[in-house]
Amino acid sequence: MPRSPGTPGAAGQRLRAIDTLLADRGQLFQALFMAAPIAKAMVDLDGHVLVANPRMCALTGRTAESLAGRHVDLLAHPDDPPVGDLGLVPAPGEPPLDPNLLLDGERRLRRSDGTELWVVQSHEVVRQNDGTPRFVVLSLVDVTDRRRAEEDAVRRAFMDPLTGLPNRRALTDRLRHAVALSRRRGLQVGLVHLNIDRFQAVNDALGHEAGDLLLSQFADRLRWSTRVEDTAVRLGADEFLVVAEDVEDLDGLRALADRLLSVLDEPFVVADREITLSASVGLTLGVDMTPDDLLRQAQSALTKAKADGSRARVEVYEGALTHSDVDALQLETDLRHALDHDELRLFYQPIVHLADETLLGYEALIRWQHPTRGLLPPGAFLDAAENNRLTSKLGAWVLRRACLDAATWADDLRVHVNVSARHLAEDGFSELVAAALEESGLPPHRLELEITESTALFAAEATLHAVAVVTDAGVTLALDDFGTGYSAITALHRLPIHTVKIDRSFVADVVTEPSTAALVHGLLQLGRGMGLQVIAEGIEDLDQAAWLLDHGCAMAQGYAFGRPAPLPSPAEVFIGEVTDIPAEDVAGELLPEPPAAPPALPRQRTPSSPEAHDLTDTGPVAAGTLFDELADPED
Ligand code: C2E
Ligand code: MG
Ligand code: MG
Repeated sequence: MPRSPGTPGAAGQRLRAIDTLLADRGQLFQALFMAAPIAKAMVDLDGHVLVANPRMCALTGRTAESLAGRHVDLLAHPDDPPVGDLGLVPAPGEPPLDPNLLLDGERRLRRSDGTELWVVQSHEVVRQNDGTPRFVVLSLVDVTDRRRAEEDAVRRAFMDPLTGLPNRRALTDRLRHAVALSRRRGLQVGLVHLNIDRFQAVNDALGHEAGDLLLSQFADRLRWSTRVEDTAVRLGADEFLVVAEDVEDLDGLRALADRLLSVLDEPFVVADREITLSASVGLTLGVDMTPDDLLRQAQSALTKAKADGSRARVEVYEGALTHSDVDALQLETDLRHALDHDELRLFYQPIVHLADETLLGYEALIRWQHPTRGLLPPGAFLDAAENNRLTSKLGAWVLRRACLDAATWADDLRVHVNVSARHLAEDGFSELVAAALEESGLPPHRLELEITESTALFAAEATLHAVAVVTDAGVTLALDDFGTGYSAITALHRLPIHTVKIDRSFVADVVTEPSTAALVHGLLQLGRGMGLQVIAEGIEDLDQAAWLLDHGCAMAQGYAFGRPAPLPSPAEVFIGEVTDIPAEDVAGELLPEPPAAPPALPRQRTPSSPEAHDLTDTGPVAAGTLFDELADPED
């Protein structure tokens, strides 16, 4: 017989069973909420926690008491954008809820100890019988492990397993990002493409395991020497690439390449053997091109660097620079070898007492006997040295050579050595000076260091300290090119200056330009007023010398008293051939124009050993002294 509607059947019986359960709500709450293996919290509609289950406490690292009454915002990860900014809206029919409750799906949270965790969040609105929303049950499922595994897989796909560096696959993305960022900032992206020279030979000789070790050591060093905004990538066996964001110009890129190459300065130790590596480098930079084009350019520069089996060459993609840039880069590479191949020379230019031309000492001026370009003046290569770590090597060489040379001169002759700002600022400068003095036996008071105004002006405290150590030992300090900087007087106050050298640009027209004359007059007075020695540089003719003497300048240097010249070799001194030494005149076009009517040179002031000094003073040299001429211009 069919049952009439309303007759209690099986479904009705089930309902009664639930009624029975509901009779003990506490038990139900315990079973469904408190003992649930999923983190759950009952939260009011504004997002304040009413009660949290033990799993929620365990997951978030907080006690039930510390969660109760707190806003769920507490659990959000502080590095994520505020949930309120996400524009979340309740589903149709859902009451207005705190946005933290609406954020269903995968999200990141933070535990009380600061560690991050990933969860899948969901929420359920619980209503009264009349449909009024009462609270929300928030559920969080911990997916941190799964998320880590995924991230790991992604990382592995984009990482070179041997070195831990990003691999070629990661490169395009990084490059695209770098190009976009640099373009926004109005800068360029630079690529340094490195290839270790003769790596196959290492593999062959030491085995692949040693080769691998070497590569990972190299990669580690590369990683340490990049800036945070640069990315080092391993492209292939022995090929690496560094992507540098925000490169201003080629100089900036060169400086970076140089820093990277310096990782090869120290030998590597593998299987108890020291191995010295070199690398060839291709450079390019740009911003208005695709990552692929940039990569092609870097590759093409590298190919050029390795052409003809070359090693340790740096090449720049031609489109990325002018010819003079190319020259400069090659120069820099060559300069690295110059030090090792004994191609640097010191020339010495006399410094004299202006009133009677007594020889007071010499300024050491560096020259480079370039294998193909001939004798190069400092202006042709010092910048290349300044741009990289050669500065200190070169500076150390000059200092040591000059002290050794000066120690062989007469006891009253001093030597002036130019010191670059960069070298002066380096650690260990004062020790270097001390070592040069000790090795040569030159008394400190016979050494004067020449620094420029800007060096003095911008010197950091550590530099000032290094200078103080040196001057305390008795070495003196000269301010070179005095008057050319914009704050000469400030510079004078920062350092214990002993001598100022009035720049030759002033001396050049001191006689003809009244304004220059007034300025030099002022500089002379300033120097005297401060109790400093004053040397006028670049005196080329008699009028200049006479003017300076009249205005109280005591010391002088310039072609009028002798051009820079190398020390004669002992043999030359003996046979009295000092006039034939290859002085600057030999350098031809490298020289500044000689004075129109060169004054007769004074006694040839070629630096020499004390014996040689006597020889040169009587040697077969110029016709008379400058002041012979001054006295009798008709002769
Ligand atoms: P500086 O220290 O002011 O050196 C004087 C420069 O003036 C020298 O040029 C010298 O040859 C030139 N000179 C001297 N008398 C005359 C003259 O009568 N007429 C003209 N026209 N020029 C004269 P140089 O040797 O080319 O050196 C240029 C600069 O290079 C030096 O200027 C100095 O700043 C720097 N320099 C030279 N050697 C070294 C070095 O060993 N280390 C460092 N850091 N810088 C150096
Ligand atoms: Mg100088
Ligand atoms: Mg000077």
